[in-house]
Amino acid sequence: MSDRPKEKLPANEKPSLHFIREIIQEDRKKGKNDGRVHTRFPPEPNGCLHIGHAKSICLNFGLAKQYGGLCNLRFDDTNPSKEEVEYVDSILEDVRWLGFDWDDRLYYASDYFEQLYEYAVQLIKLGKAYVCDLSPDQVRQYRGTLTEPGKESPYRNRSVDENLDLFERMRRGEFEDGSRVLRAKIDMASGNLNMRDSTIYRIKKASHHRTGDKWCIYPMYDFTHCLSDSIEGITHSICTLEFEDHRPLYDWFLDELGVFHPRQIEFARLNLTYTVMSKRKLLELVDRDHVTGWDDPRMPTISGLRRRGYTPEAIRNFCERIGVAKRDSMVDISLLEHCLREDLNKRAQRVMAVLHPLRVVIVNYPEEQAEELEAVNNPEDPSAGTRKVPFSRVLYIEREDFREDPPKKYFRLAPGREVRLRYAYFIKCVDVVKNDKTGEIIELHCTYDPETRGGSAPDGRKVRGTIHWVSAAHALEAEVRLYDHLFTRENPLDDDEGGDFRQCLNPQSLEMLTSCRVEPSLSGAAPGSRYQFERLGYFCVDSVDSSKESLVFNRTVTLRDTWAKIEKAMNKKSG
Ligand code: ATP
Ligand code: MG
Repeated sequence: MSDRPKEKLPANEKPSLHFIREIIQEDRKKGKNDGRVHTRFPPEPNGCLHIGHAKSICLNFGLAKQYGGLCNLRFDDTNPSKEEVEYVDSILEDVRWLGFDWDDRLYYASDYFEQLYEYAVQLIKLGKAYVCDLSPDQVRQYRGTLTEPGKESPYRNRSVDENLDLFERMRRGEFEDGSRVLRAKIDMASGNLNMRDSTIYRIKKASHHRTGDKWCIYPMYDFTHCLSDSIEGITHSICTLEFEDHRPLYDWFLDELGVFHPRQIEFARLNLTYTVMSKRKLLELVDRDHVTGWDDPRMPTISGLRRRGYTPEAIRNFCERIGVAKRDSMVDISLLEHCLREDLNKRAQRVMAVLHPLRVVIVNYPEEQAEELEAVNNPEDPSAGTRKVPFSRVLYIEREDFREDPPKKYFRLAPGREVRLRYAYFIKCVDVVKNDKTGEIIELHCTYDPETRGGSAPDGRKVRGTIHWVSAAHALEAEVRLYDHLFTRENPLDDDEGGDFRQCLNPQSLEMLTSCRVEPSLSGAAPGSRYQFERLGYFCVDSVDSSKESLVFNRTVTLRDTWAKIEKAMNKKSG
């Protein structure tokens, strides 16, 4: 578990002060918990992690690292029917991939079931909990509303002995699901609905992924969470805003039981444009085959982003940049893409690939000849070196890079026009060959100038366009998958069209291109490896469908940086 090298945070991940860091620094100054910082990341294993969880992971593990503390990974697995082992494994993999390490501190709330039961017994003995026989519907009716106080349950004043007896029999399985619950005895008139005698235990005769059939009563989240935090000695229990109203209950359980008392701090969850973040909704997309699985490269899941070609560094950097706030907001997905480009620009090797091939015959290049030209692997990283790219008489260029009737400012290839082939020669289009019937362009005939090898002319003449290409005889065929936003609306949950978030699924979110051509240096490219296809974008070898025999690439992100434009516009406005 801890055999991976600890990564150092790059300079741009230097933390800036936010309100949680302020709270922790204040607590440390006061010597609270002897200055100790101990956080936890508590996923419920009912789905795969998404980029919102990444924010929480970076925050919890990041704070521990920054203040020399610890961060636990704890599965919040109190809900027996929903949790699945495969999610546990995928969560472990994702947290590790993001670059964080829980050492030997992997916990499960279900490990505490016995102790939690004892705590519940203690509450009963303190007169602070009772077994209630109201039906779920009745419990709801008795609870009242935000404007009306609740009504006390007729079972509220059972004796301690009767409660102890009933609770034990609940555990033994004597009662049906839903027939009884154990409730906290707090205040049915409280302005906070969570304080109106909330449920502590319910009966559920279901197998649990870890405890099997040992239990038929299961503790509720609010009871489990604060006590698990307490048992583990968590100092700062960081959660999202929807738990703000649960904090009084969190504090109540710990105070009544007189146990170690962590501090709950709430922050705003991450929302991203053009996607949804709730596991329930993501599961719906998977179940209804709108995507190929949790790791579909269009999904905002960690496994989807990884398969798409995201780097952990880009995600961590994004999480640091969006900061931590107390008010919910929506983050522009182009910021995430911007962080990704920044990182890939530094690390991705450049190669040439043609997605929509158009055949080009260099009519004055000898038939049987081929040569190798030197190409730079990464202009951002001289240590990446150079490679050889084969050149020959028949090439492919991008269909888009030729126009029979070029508009103004179109500087690429056109009849009679000369352009530069990247790393190679100047070529000039001398003829256009078309299909007699359809008029479709089949191939171009060009001449090359042998004097321009390497890309410049000794006579000083200039060309305005440089295009990429591959040698037809040497290139490898590949499938390329182009992705776009999964939804057409910035906020798919906006209800203005009266409906279902699936109504605004983007029908063009995936475009599959077969018979693309890539340069031969990509032969045997390892699954997951990332490249910049020159002029096209960043791509990675698909980790599921690609093989030595048939390469499959995912477009990770285009080169066009819409975030840079947004930022520029914002600066203009404010400056
Ligand atoms: P979802 O709403 O997607 O189902 P959840 O909150 O039910 O998420 P959990 O597995 O309970 O998912 O979450 C584990 C931790 O991650 C919690 O502390 C939760 O607050 C945090 N978290 C979940 N979603 C986000 C988000 N969008 N932004 C930040 N933190 C999040
Ligand atoms: Mg949850």
